Amino acid sequence: MDITVKDPLLTDIAKKVREGERLSLSDAVTLYRSSDLIAIGRMADSVRKAKYGNKAYYVYNQHINYTNVCTNMCSFCAYAEEEGSKKAYTWSIDEIRKRIMERIDEPVKELHIVGGLNRNLTFDYFTDMLKMIREIRPDAAIKAFTAVEIDYLSGLSGFSLEKTVSVLKEAGLMMMPGGGAEVMSDRVHDTLFPKKIGKDRWLEVTEAVHRTGLNTNATMLYGHIETIEERVNHLLTLRDLQDRTGGFSAFIPLSFHSKNTKLSHIPATTAFDDLKTIAIARLVLDNIPHIKAYWVMIGEKLAQTALFFGADDLDGTIIEERITHTAGATSAKGLSRKSMEHMIRSAGLEPVERDSFYNEVRGAA
Ligand code: SF4
Repeated sequence: MDITVKDPLLTDIAKKVREGERLSLSDAVTLYRSSDLIAIGRMADSVRKAKYGNKAYYVYNQHINYTNVCTNMCSFCAYAEEEGSKKAYTWSIDEIRKRIMERIDEPVKELHIVGGLNRNLTFDYFTDMLKMIREIRPDAAIKAFTAVEIDYLSGLSGFSLEKTVSVLKEAGLMMMPGGGAEVMSDRVHDTLFPKKIGKDRWLEVTEAVHRTGLNTNATMLYGHIETIEERVNHLLTLRDLQDRTGGFSAFIPLSFHSKNTKLSHIPATTAFDDLKTIAIARLVLDNIPHIKAYWVMIGEKLAQTALFFGADDLDGTIIEERITHTAGATSAKGLSRKSMEHMIRSAGLEPVERDSFYNEVRGAA
């Protein structure tokens, strides 16, 4: 790989990338401060290409957001509602079954399940939900609950973290989606989501989950009040945990959408920042295999472009996204398999449908 860099500050970083050397905190900050986006993108693309060649992944999945009632009421969240609000909802086990049955003839390979912290739900609700889904959808992986929900469920059940995860696993839990840390910074936590678990507990829960043999993803919510240094520290903290556990499958940068939140004065992230964040994630997170361009957050067109800025995965068909659309996302609520494959193929790459564990379901056609 020979990358032409216009920004002289990137010369040493390009050399490190070429030689497979790990990037430091100051390298990552330099990348963020540089406006040489094309050089950063080409570095990230060379790393992606060495791992995956022309392949780009997606999954046929369905989102289930079982309740929007949440005790935490984080100020960046447009989704959560107080109990009793007109917009509050909680699906019964039968309603969840109905939504899955409506799509039962589709080749869904993953159910992505997250929701608010609703005091009215019992621990049995969660195990019953998992058991019911496993029974009616035995061929789909159940990827459910953030570390925030696992912490809450541990409190609800009275079990230790390990026992909570093992009971959920027994009921059908196969993987976790990885959100909830937002940006691991005490300052951001105390300002935006003081009632939610902080960095140390998020890491403790995630490490405990990895130790039980379940993989998770990891995310970073960026584009609100965080600094560049806080973003970089977040990435390096994930990289350190991955060195210890190897339990992260994918990293998903989540661009902040402010509509209908208490932070609605904050403008949307730019394409420049979105692409740079994806590329830097690919370069810094050298031990996390997959980097996703989550099309719901950044739009289909930019997600497709991100496949040349370090991303190897477009996430999924999704079917009915609720959380980001409540915050004003203008992307589609779901995409067909045909649309996902068209996005990848028209970028000159080979679409590969995968399951939650990155086993190929359908190779490039
Ligand atoms: S981000 Fe999660 S924990 Fe915070 S209010 Fe929204 S649903 Fe609740």
